[in-house]
Amino acid sequence: MSAKTWRALLKGKHQLSLRLFLLLNAISACFSLASPIHQTMPFTVPVGLILLISASLLAWQLIDKQRLININYTSFALGLLWAWHIIIKNDAIPNTDASFLIIALLTMLFIGAISFINNLQAFILHCLPATLTILWLDQGEHWLRVLYSVALPGVGITIQHIIQRRNDNFTQRLMNKLLEEKETLTDLSMIDPLTGLYNRRGFQSRLETVMAAGSGNHYVLLLDIDHFKAYNDNYGHSMGDQALIRVSAAIRDVVRSRDIVTRYGGEEFMVLLTNTDAENAMETAERIRLRVYDLRILHLFNEQVATNVTISIGIAPLLDDGIEEALEMADKALYRAKDQGRNSILTSDNLQAA
Ligand code: GH3
Ligand code: MG
Ligand code: MG
Repeated sequence: MSAKTWRALLKGKHQLSLRLFLLLNAISACFSLASPIHQTMPFTVPVGLILLISASLLAWQLIDKQRLININYTSFALGLLWAWHIIIKNDAIPNTDASFLIIALLTMLFIGAISFINNLQAFILHCLPATLTILWLDQGEHWLRVLYSVALPGVGITIQHIIQRRNDNFTQRLMNKLLEEKETLTDLSMIDPLTGLYNRRGFQSRLETVMAAGSGNHYVLLLDIDHFKAYNDNYGHSMGDQALIRVSAAIRDVVRSRDIVTRYGGEEFMVLLTNTDAENAMETAERIRLRVYDLRILHLFNEQVATNVTISIGIAPLLDDGIEEALEMADKALYRAKDQGRNSILTSDNLQAA
């Protein structure tokens, strides 16, 4: 999950609270039409508009679920309409006691608090017009009661807002950490733990990048340590591992960073030399062979080849018919290089010439 999907989730959550808000407004408008607190003037233009707007927006959102409606504008617009309704009603009611104003205020706060428990801004935008209107109409007579009615949900929502912020931050940090770990695991799953070279999966991934970058001449080198079974048998597996590590490092030292060095099998390596030519590929292979030879890893059981560890290399171009074909050709060349007495290099061209 990316930061983008995270934001989309949050937006979706807010849209849900907007739906609840519209529903409560529609119900409240219906109620004030059907069973008003004061029978005088049951219908006002603003309450009719509130019903119309909230019902249509709700229907619009239900039909087109992707449709995002601006929460702040909507809550403010409906808040203004309620304030307008309160002014008209208050004018029309004879001998006003404050009960109409207080009930109207509590209804607004109730709707705002339920719908926007996680959205302080929308809550304020919704309740502010009616609160100021009521304070003005009431001439400050019940200012303490009004203040208390507003402050209570206001403080509650602010605290809830802070808690939610912390939770969101925590969840986001957790998500980022998980994404990082996932990346690390993906990287690790592409690396051979003993040698630190790419494994076949890592090779495949790098190969795709190279191929996507466009055309160029690439060469495949298959390298195999000579008589490594004898090395293991005589010096032990642990010494064998050390030899593999040193040979791997030697190969990586010789090639450029854009070339792909892979541990292809037990004591077999594959190098993809990217954007190069046959002559360079041959030269690089020769340098690798010499570098491994120069490690002078003692191998008295390397039979007739040498008294240190050596490698044989098969080379083939990566042609349009794909990596499998190139590997097959390189493998044949390697097999022949072994046949020739090891510690040597052969290209697939040599095979065809022969
Ligand atoms: P050739 O010159 O024909 O390549 O002979 P070879 O003995 O190298 O070839 P073979 O394939 O018979 O033997 C490969 C040996 O490599 C077998 C195994 O003991 C050793 N080997 C493979 N993987 C590892 C490893 O991870 N660690 C160690 N220490 N040895 C390994
Ligand atoms: Mg071998
Ligand atoms: Mg082998």
